[in-house]
Amino acid sequence: MKDNFHQFDQMVSLAKSMSSHYKTGSAWLYLSACGDLQRNREIISQRLSPRTVIDLDSPDIAFEESLEKELNCRSCQTENDSRLFAGCVSVRRDFHIDPYGQMTFCCFVKDPDLRYDLRKGNFKECWEEFIPSLGDKVRGSEEYLEGCGSCDLRKDCRWCPVFGYLEHRRLSAPVGYLCEVAKENRNFKTTGGKTIAATIRLPA
Ligand code: SF4
Ligand code: SF4
Repeated sequence: MKDNFHQFDQMVSLAKSMSSHYKTGSAWLYLSACGDLQRNREIISQRLSPRTVIDLDSPDIAFEESLEKELNCRSCQTENDSRLFAGCVSVRRDFHIDPYGQMTFCCFVKDPDLRYDLRKGNFKECWEEFIPSLGDKVRGSEEYLEGCGSCDLRKDCRWCPVFGYLEHRRLSAPVGYLCEVAKENRNFKTTGGKTIAATIRLPA
């Protein structure tokens, strides 16, 4: 976050004091599950600059590929296919149940229509019928087809419909902040990583 980013070096030192292996996660902040406007404004105000996000979490292509393989994440959409979650639903073996008994295939899915109420049904029905049905059922709108679905930066972008929902309450919606992060990411890749700063810069 912007407010404690000045302590970043100290955080790294602390991590290194415990292990030679550490990872910086969540370099960019997505918005809240509850959608509270005030809370979301606070989160947005704490986002780091897109350039800093890439400095902190610069693409390691080999690692990204292995992670995608392991988690089957970022595999939701395929080109020329309006089905938003077909990839994930068909290959992932995960499920997530929130404290209210709402179950679905990914912890980031907050659209109530994509969560199954276990208090009114059962796990087997959700796993065998509800979740598989989402693959064909959930389709991107024109907004998706003309936006993220045909975007040149898609491979450099961290966007997923779940983040569109958290940002705008629409699964098909692009996330402007992620567009800027994607441009920095593309720039990093095309310049062979030369844009990464030796010392992490403080956000403006
Ligand atoms: S974050 Fe998106 S791509 Fe990753 S598992 Fe969840 S729905 Fe699929
Ligand atoms: S969020 Fe922006 S950069 Fe990313 S895929 Fe959508 S339109 Fe493209």
